[in-house]
Parts: sequence; structure tokens; C-alpha cells
Amino acid sequence: MSYSFANSMCQIWTGFVKSYSRTHATISQSLLRSFHSSRIQNATESKDQESGQEDAGKEASKDKRREYARKYHQKILNDPERLQRKRQQWRRWYAKNYPNNPTLQQKRLENVRRWRDAHRDEHVNNYLNDAAYREAYQKGNKHNKASDEKKRVRLEQNVDNCQQIMKFCQWISHTEWARRMAWETHELLWNETGKTPGLCASCKSVYTRKFWWQRKKSDEKSGEKLLDCHNCFCHKDWEKAMPIGMRGHVFGTGRIRQPDWTKYPPPSSSKS
Ligand SMILES: [Zn+2]
Repeated sequence: MSYSFANSMCQIWTGFVKSYSRTHATISQSLLRSFHSSRIQNATESKDQESGQEDAGKEASKDKRREYARKYHQKILNDPERLQRKRQQWRRWYAKNYPNNPTLQQKRLENVRRWRDAHRDEHVNNYLNDAAYREAYQKGNKHNKASDEKKRVRLEQNVDNCQQIMKFCQWISHTEWARRMAWETHELLWNETGKTPGLCASCKSVYTRKFWWQRKKSDEKSGEKLLDCHNCFCHKDWEKAMPIGMRGHVFGTGRIRQPDWTKYPPPSSSKS
């Protein structure tokens, strides 16, 4: 049971979480190799076509080049600063070439597979017998949870507000009781049966929308109660865009509970 479990863990072991960082050195070295060999190959191929030298001569020059490349690599690997610079260069080259180079894609896949196969037994053994290793490995697999946490922090700091605006719109659209809430500056005009065409007083654009935000204060000039589109309404003042009693809520961080409808909206409705 435990063996098959571990085995299946290996099967789904994608190598992107943990092995990637470990293979990184290997990959970048092989990248370096493919980077230079492709350049060398191109150079030699074009030369060969022109001159038609003998095979022995070709081999000798190839060996020479290989030797030169090997020395070159060693030189770079021994110089951390230069290695750092080169790595950035390789990454750029890789990012540029990888999407349209099937050979490179194949090579990378092979490298990852080879590394994984070579380390599989070790991994299974460590996973089953070493609690610290297992914990670290499981932590690595919780990559998505960590990114969720990051996202939550970002949303709480209101950095990525367009996402909040979208979630707010979804919440209004999908939650019936949400539309019964009260807002400080606006009133929600919800069209139950269809969409209403309207003019947004803020961005002066016309839209056909499921809901509009009507300003509570009527316009000084026309005396009309003007409309705002959802986007403009949210961008005006995110704090006040939240219904009374829900200030500071971050969508995507947990369930929203219905207010006590007998006491809603609270009498001091100007302050939530
Ligand atoms: Zn607008």
C-alpha cells in the first residue's frame, strides 16, 4: 500500500515544484551546451557546405571547437559574477527560443525525465523514511496555497483592485440578498428581467447593463439623479462602494454573512 502510494506520488511528480530548483543547475548547463553547440553547428554547417573539406579535417576542427567550448564553460563556472550574468543571458535566450524550438523542448523534457529517473529511488526512500524530507516535499507541493496566500495579501492591500471590482460585481449578480443591502452614496438599480441602457455620468459612456448605480444626491444643474457604471462607482471610493456594514471586506477571503435584517440598515447609516 505505502509502496504503491509512494510510487504513484512519483508518477505525478512533475518536477516543477521541487526538482526544478535542483535541476536548475543541470538544465542551465545543458542549456549552455545547446546554446553554444547550436551556434557552433550553424557556423560549421555553413562552412562545410562551401568548402567541402575532408571528414577528418572536419572532425579535428569540431574537436578543437568542443575543447574550446569546454574551457570556456569551465572559465564561466569558476567566476560567480560572470556566471550570474551569463545565466541571465541564457534565460533570455531560452525564453526567446524555447516556444518555437521543438528540439529544445524535447531536450528539456528528456533532461527532466533523466534527472527524475536517476533520483527516483532516492526520492522514494527519503520520502518513506525521512520525516523532514517528507515535510519539506509536501510543503513544496503546497505551492498553490502559498500563492493563494500571497494573492489574499495583495487583495487586502487593495493592490489589484480590478479583481475586487469584478468579484464585487459577481457577488451582486449572484447573491439575491446582496441586492437588499444599502449603500451610503448610491442606490442599486437592479433589472430583474433584462438589461437597461444607460449613460454613465462619470465616464460619459453608454452601456446596457444588468445593474446601475444611481447617485443619491441629485445633480446640481439638472436636478436629476445621475447614474454611474459599476466600474466608475467602484473607482470613486472603494470604501464607500462597499455596502453599509461591509466596509473593509475583501472578496475572495471568506464567506460573507447576511446582516441582521431586522436592524438593517443601522440608523447611523452615514457611518458603517
Ligand atoms: Zn462609467
